[in-house]
Amino acid sequence: MGFLDSLKFSRLKEGLTKTRDSIVQKVQRIVRAKRKIDAELLDEIEEILITSDVGATTSMDIIDRIRERVKSQGYEDASELMRLLREEVGAFLADEPVETDGTSILVPSVKKPYVVMIVGVNGVGKTTTVGKLAHNYKTSGYEVLIGAADTFRAAANRQLEIWADRAGVGIIQQKPGADPASVAFDTLQSAMARNVDVVLIDTAGRLHTRSNLMEELKKIKRVMSKIHAEAPHEVLLVLDATTGQNAIQQAKLFDEAVQLTGLVVTKLDGTAKGGVVIGISHEMKTPVKYIGVGEQIDDLQVFDRDAFVDALFGSLETEEDVSVEEEL
Ligand code: GDP
Ligand code: GDP
Ligand code: MG
Repeated sequence: MGFLDSLKFSRLKEGLTKTRDSIVQKVQRIVRAKRKIDAELLDEIEEILITSDVGATTSMDIIDRIRERVKSQGYEDASELMRLLREEVGAFLADEPVETDGTSILVPSVKKPYVVMIVGVNGVGKTTTVGKLAHNYKTSGYEVLIGAADTFRAAANRQLEIWADRAGVGIIQQKPGADPASVAFDTLQSAMARNVDVVLIDTAGRLHTRSNLMEELKKIKRVMSKIHAEAPHEVLLVLDATTGQNAIQQAKLFDEAVQLTGLVVTKLDGTAKGGVVIGISHEMKTPVKYIGVGEQIDDLQVFDRDAFVDALFGSLETEEDVSVEEEL
């Protein structure tokens, strides 16, 4: 079974339920209570976006765009607003999707192995994401090797080992306290010797020694590029959607240190703060590559902007929402 088979749209829709309730239903409610688009209505929508963790800057930018379009294109009817909002939210999401053939991930044709380094603060879901990614690449037909470069916590190796087993891929580790850069070095060297397609490097995320962490991550990157000039090909920052706006601060810090190529937003299941995806994507100008919608191995989805907007707003044909009618 291709991994995308299990990544049904319904899973995404279910994951975004609370965010949808938080943004779309509230907007629908006030739009329906009003007939005409006016300044007050746009302010109210901006407020909804901000409280849904889209972020003040991005919310303002979205409403500015809508205000402009209302003016230049002469929209008057409040019922037009849902469509405008949907279009603008879509336009604000950086779109640089992971390549797939509809069923499998396609690894770019580079000199092997394709190296993906996973970074982020503690508890955001890095190790889980490494496990899920390993599964996705493996079921897409690639040979995968995981590097356990979080040597800071003794339990980290064991946790990653369990994920490697589940995904059916190899893992390189050293004893706790070892130099993470050395683990990355070993992993890459071993991957080249075994002709592995994809290397995934898990890293530590301790917060209390943040500057050391950044130095450690830079060193991991530097050491890998010595053996493979293009490595790492991807540096993915994992962000926990439930942390809301703090995520943008984290993204800036990590980007400065290790130049992020993409974001993974986890824990979108069960949070009303999914709007943070829109804000981060816009403010960081960094594409969201994957989203996590659960704790299981197949709960990582390739981020698809159109599917995300559809899951959030409903597809255009089914926009009428009966439950809102009933509430009024
Ligand atoms: P790390 O410290 O960044 O490596 O984070 P872990 O991978 O150890 O994950 C921390 C916790 O978050 C674990 O309990 C995971 O099961 C959970 N987790 C990770 N991704 C998701 C997700 O997409 N949804 C949910 N609900 N939980 C997640
Ligand atoms: P620096 O510490 O920033 O000066 O970078 P180095 O080039 O000295 O290497 C950084 C780390 O990469 C070292 O501490 C080692 O852990 C690892 N490393 C470098 N070369 C090798 C090697 O040949 N074998 C292994 N296993 N690790 C290496
Ligand atoms: Mg971890």
